[in-house]
Amino acid sequence: MKKMSRLNLFACLVATVLLAANANIGQAQGQPPPDHPAVTVRGQTYTPRSILARNMGTEADQTTQFPPHKIIGNVYYVGTKTLSSFLVVTPQGNILIDSTYERNVPTIQKSVEQLGLKFSDVKILLGNHAHGDHQEGDALVKQLTGAQVMAMAEDVPALQAIKPGGKEHPIDKILHDGEEVTLGGTTLVAHLTPGHTRGCTTWTMKAQESGRTYNVMFGCSVRPPGVLTPAIVDEFNRSFKLLHALPCDVQLGDHGAQYNMQEKFAKIQNGGRNPFIEPASCKVEADIEEAMFHAILDEQQNAARP
Ligand SMILES: [Zn+2]
Repeated sequence: MKKMSRLNLFACLVATVLLAANANIGQAQGQPPPDHPAVTVRGQTYTPRSILARNMGTEADQTTQFPPHKIIGNVYYVGTKTLSSFLVVTPQGNILIDSTYERNVPTIQKSVEQLGLKFSDVKILLGNHAHGDHQEGDALVKQLTGAQVMAMAEDVPALQAIKPGGKEHPIDKILHDGEEVTLGGTTLVAHLTPGHTRGCTTWTMKAQESGRTYNVMFGCSVRPPGVLTPAIVDEFNRSFKLLHALPCDVQLGDHGAQYNMQEKFAKIQNGGRNPFIEPASCKVEADIEEAMFHAILDEQQNAARP
C-alpha cells in the first residue's frame, strides 16, 4: 500500500512536470505577445501584438491563395494572403523563396501553374528564416521538384529542428554571409541579417523592367523577440545598420503586410506605373522594427533597475 502511494506520488510529480512543460510550450507558441511598448512610426502606432497580428492575419489568411502576380522583371508572388513565397524565373529554371507551411505547398504549386510555369522547374529553394511559417514545407517542395535547398549556416540548427511528420529538413548547400546564388543569368545575394533568428537572410537581386535596372530586396523579418539578450542586441544593431545601407527600389518581405502587398496589388489592376517600385517606402519596415527594438530594450532596462 505504502509502495503504491509512493508510486502514485511519483506519477503525480511526473504529470505535474509534464503539464508545466506543456504550459511553457503553449505560452511560446500560442499566446500573443504583449500589447506594450507602443511605438509610432510615420503616423502609425504599433505594439508587439499588433505587428504579429498584422503579419499573420487569420488562420484562413495564412493558407488562402493570394492571386499570383508579377512584381517586377522576372520576380513573381506565389504565396498566400499573409505568408510570402516568391518565384524568380530564369531560362535555366526557377528559384523559389519560402515554402511556408507544409500544408501551403499545393497552393504554391497551383499559383506557379496559374502563371503558366511548371512547379518541377523550381531548381533552387531558398529561405527567409528558420521558422515554420516560412520554411516548414521545404522537404515537400524538394520531394515534388528535386530542387536544391540552400540555407544560411547560422539558421541550419533551427532548420534541422523543423521536421513536419518526422521528415528530415533537407539542406543541400550551406551558405555564408555575402554568398551569391546564380541561375540562368540572375544572381541573388544572401545577406546575413540576424536577430529574429540567428541566420535570418535578406536576399537582394537586380531586376530589369522597361530598359531600367532596379534593386529588389527580399527583407528578412527584423521583428524583435520579447526578451533581448546581449547577443541578440548585437545582432539587431548590425542588421539595422546593414538594412539602412542596402540599395533598394523594390522592398518585399516574408509577410505581405511588411510592404503593403494588398494595396500595391490593387494598384496594378488600375494599370499605370509599377506600384512595387517605391524607394521611399523601402526602409519603413526596418524603421518600425528598429523603433520597437529600442522601446523593448528600454522597457527591459527599466525593469532591471532596482
Ligand atoms: Zn519568424
